[in-house]
Amino acid sequence: MEIAIVGSGYVGLVTGVCLAEIGHDVTCIDVDKTKINKLKKGLVPIYEPGLDKLLVKNINNKRLKFSYSIKDGAQKATAIFIAVGTPSKKNGDADLTYVENVAREIAESMTDYKLVIEKSTVPAETGKKVAQTIRKYIPKKYRQGNKLLLDFDVASNPEFLREGSAVEDFMNPDRVVIGVESKRAEKLLREIYKPLKPKMVVTNINSAELIKHASNSFLATKISFINAISQICTILEADVLKVAEGMGYDRRIGRQFLNAGIGYGGSCFPKDVDAFIRLSEKSGYKFHLLEQVREINEQQKDAFLKLIEDKMWIVKNKTIGLLGLAFKPNTDDMRNAPSIDLIRALQKEGAQIKAYDPEAVENTRKMVEGVTFSKDPYALAKGCDCLLLVTEWEEFHDLNFEKIRDLMNHPVIFDGRNLYHDKKLDKIGFEYYGIGRPAV
Ligand code: NAD
Repeated sequence: MEIAIVGSGYVGLVTGVCLAEIGHDVTCIDVDKTKINKLKKGLVPIYEPGLDKLLVKNINNKRLKFSYSIKDGAQKATAIFIAVGTPSKKNGDADLTYVENVAREIAESMTDYKLVIEKSTVPAETGKKVAQTIRKYIPKKYRQGNKLLLDFDVASNPEFLREGSAVEDFMNPDRVVIGVESKRAEKLLREIYKPLKPKMVVTNINSAELIKHASNSFLATKISFINAISQICTILEADVLKVAEGMGYDRRIGRQFLNAGIGYGGSCFPKDVDAFIRLSEKSGYKFHLLEQVREINEQQKDAFLKLIEDKMWIVKNKTIGLLGLAFKPNTDDMRNAPSIDLIRALQKEGAQIKAYDPEAVENTRKMVEGVTFSKDPYALAKGCDCLLLVTEWEEFHDLNFEKIRDLMNHPVIFDGRNLYHDKKLDKIGFEYYGIGRPAV
């Protein structure tokens, strides 16, 4: 099928490349010309494992093209995915300006039937607004009084991929959710995903939009739940890892998303939880549970900072090294990464910050000043008064801790992910602090 993707970021690009890989003719569109120029040369502007190879392969077999213009890129497509950003407004609402802009531009360039698919995460009822916008902006030559001479459908197809394993997730989805209001839209979406043979959940547009918000909010709730448990564990000298293990073997609960840490971050959970709270509020339901989920997340970040302040006593003029910056491994995405709040808070107290991350340094540079970036974990450790494990990148799993100990001013580790819980670092001379674990 001829498909256009508007917005070639983390979601749009992966969607475009993967849809080309399964046999469709895809044009990825973006207003960011630098991004499109890079992509045309086969260069991936983000870090996402496996994406670069598939990109080049599908450019070469001519199934993948790039354009800056919706008019050129989307006119020949039957299905157009909207995958632009939906950031938070100050009050927590999802800012749908980009979605509206794209809907308008699609309408203005329409010459035949289009299926317009929301891939971006949007609040319920957005589908209706997109349809209204398209109806309003279809050119005059395609109208007869109130009657439209062009047909179109709007559908919702939320994306559940995770940064860091996005290609794998797209190609092997747990389910594909489609919200449709016509047989034609359903048939086209089924055809698009047919090569993946996925489990399909077919529903109306509002329900599909809600599924995405409900899923992300549920996952955020699971994280905040175990983080709250970790606080109780700290008080009672219990071990959150064992509590999570004991809970997680229960199949009704499951092991995933029960890792206590320094709070969730990233480009999705914080903004999607905010947007869901606002949507509920506007619909007349006060979602107290989600307000608490958000609150616990903030408390968890504060608790990590307090632990550092407590154990270091005076932070001023101490050199603190961050092992990892990205909000999770295998991505360079720094949007809402907890490391940024940590850096700013510690700098405010006069600490000298060093940091190392395998992929996220360039994006971090744009967000904070005064940080010294190191070329590897050992260069980072040199001269540090303590290390903070922030992101559990694979390469941090098996470090030479004797070497690190000898390079540091003082061998102190605050393990924000409980990654080194079984390494017995205290036995080789480290002061070691995990999250929600008995003191060693
Ligand atoms: P992103 O910021 O990486 O990409 C958005 C892209 O849209 C940018 O490249 C931007 O230049 C482009 N854009 C903005 N306005 C445009 C316009 N008028 N025409 C063409 N391009 C335009 O964002 P993302 O992380 O890919 O997220 C996109 C959507 O997908 C969001 O709603 C997000 O919540 C949702 N989502 C994200 C993830 C994730 O892991 N990142 C997962 C699932 C869903």
